[in-house]
Amino acid sequence: MKSYPSRRAFIAGVSAAALRGDTHTEPDLILYNANILTVDAAGPRAQAVAIADGRFLAVGSTDDIRGISKPGTRQIDIGGKTIVPGFIDAHSHPSYAGILHLRWVNCNLRSIAAIQNAIRERAAKTPPGDWVIGFMYDDTKTSEGRKLTREDLDTAAPDHPVFIEHRGGHTAYVNSLAYRRTEITDRTPDPPGGKFDRDPATGKLSGGLRENATDSFRKLLPTRFTRDEMRQGVKLISQMMVRTGVTSVTDAQASPEDLLGYQDAREAGDLSLRVYCLMQFRALDKMIAAGVRAGLGDERVRVGGIKLVCDGSISERTARLTEPYIGRPNDYGILVSSEEALYAGARKAHEAGWQIGTHANGDAAIDIMLRIYERLQREMPRRDPRYRLEHCTVVNPSLISRIRALGAIPTPFSTYVYYHGEKMKEYGQERLNWMFAVRSFLDAGIHVTQASDYPPGPFEPMMALQSEVTRTDSHGTLWGPRQRVTAEEALRVGTMNGAYASFDENRKGSITAGKLADLVVLGRDPLRVDPMTLIEIPIERTMVGGRWVYES
Ligand SMILES: [Zn+2]
Repeated sequence: MKSYPSRRAFIAGVSAAALRGDTHTEPDLILYNANILTVDAAGPRAQAVAIADGRFLAVGSTDDIRGISKPGTRQIDIGGKTIVPGFIDAHSHPSYAGILHLRWVNCNLRSIAAIQNAIRERAAKTPPGDWVIGFMYDDTKTSEGRKLTREDLDTAAPDHPVFIEHRGGHTAYVNSLAYRRTEITDRTPDPPGGKFDRDPATGKLSGGLRENATDSFRKLLPTRFTRDEMRQGVKLISQMMVRTGVTSVTDAQASPEDLLGYQDAREAGDLSLRVYCLMQFRALDKMIAAGVRAGLGDERVRVGGIKLVCDGSISERTARLTEPYIGRPNDYGILVSSEEALYAGARKAHEAGWQIGTHANGDAAIDIMLRIYERLQREMPRRDPRYRLEHCTVVNPSLISRIRALGAIPTPFSTYVYYHGEKMKEYGQERLNWMFAVRSFLDAGIHVTQASDYPPGPFEPMMALQSEVTRTDSHGTLWGPRQRVTAEEALRVGTMNGAYASFDENRKGSITAGKLADLVVLGRDPLRVDPMTLIEIPIERTMVGGRWVYES
């Protein structure tokens, strides 16, 4: 079905300046003969787009757009392929992930034996006594069907303290030498908001650390990287992301070092995507003192808001729930901060005019954060604060109506059903119908986004689409079918809604004249393929600001 704008609507859509032949609005580039899904309700389909100075100049039919070309305009025949707006990953940890890919041991491996080999190899190149650190370990994806133990790590590296972070980032696994470095023994009690895993028979420490129990180890890790390493990490991750069609990302826990890394990468021409930063809470005082407010920066790197953390993680099963985990009747998950502390932090940020994004996964945690946001709006009402609920995984009808009433923004994990399906049984089928609740959010008119939380979840937008549309994991199991959405809805969630979450709805998120020229050329039309094959759609090219940043 064709729905290109009429000739008259098209002419109206091209700026008057372009039609006058104003030099600043001559198209640099025209893409034509394409199947363009604009995600703009005013004209959902188009065949061609003209680009000038990094922005869309005009969108319409091939004939109309080619008609405004000038002698210097480059024209590219897209050959009928599909073009969509660039994808926006509304919650991720790009700089952190980039530096870890550069410097730590990648434990995204499918057996404990393979992980031991990787650790052994790194230990051989590391002076005895120095830390060996790994990341991306996933307890449900190794063939042995059990978790890493202290003994596994002792065997692999007896002469090095070892710290292996779970893919979710909220739990870690250590060896005997690591315990000795922290002076934590079998008799040490669990810290507030944390837990040391112990052998149920003997009570001895077994290697696992949950939530705040990782703190005393993290303090000892050599996590200082040079400024140049930070820049290289950003370069690496931005290359990894743009090749999957991501053109904008929100760093959901940026440190001042990350922010510097993004700026350095940008200056060196190494930052191929756009970054919006939710700064770590510890940076707030200094930023307020320096007069920094939310929104400082530009269309490439922007300081956006402040990040707070309320509870645990979904992939590591520590999120704070009102009903216990399946098979663990006394385990409700973990709250990592008190309500009073969260209120005090949120109030300080709110008073200073910052957007607030709080990590809240379980329904108990979401309830607490909504109570805090509601209180802030009562005590110090601010127009359009766009409070964010990072992840906002387990909901119910009453939480949804409070989210809607506040105009708050949930950023649920978009690839978890597909990628982390085997972990979902600890939540149960019934609860899954209220998890990653994109259908319910859309039905309530809530601006729900797509988000990977990478490293915890894969960031490929095509995996996000398949996960949200099919609610089926990679083994074929259906999880929470009530939350299924259409491919068209998922596309809007991954583009326009992501733009809204960072106050960018007038700058990006759709292929509309005047917006930033961020787009992706796909090998197939995601609205026409079997939804079970969305993940296989090839990403052919990615454009950011009118420049190709990836070409297959
Ligand atoms: Zn996160």
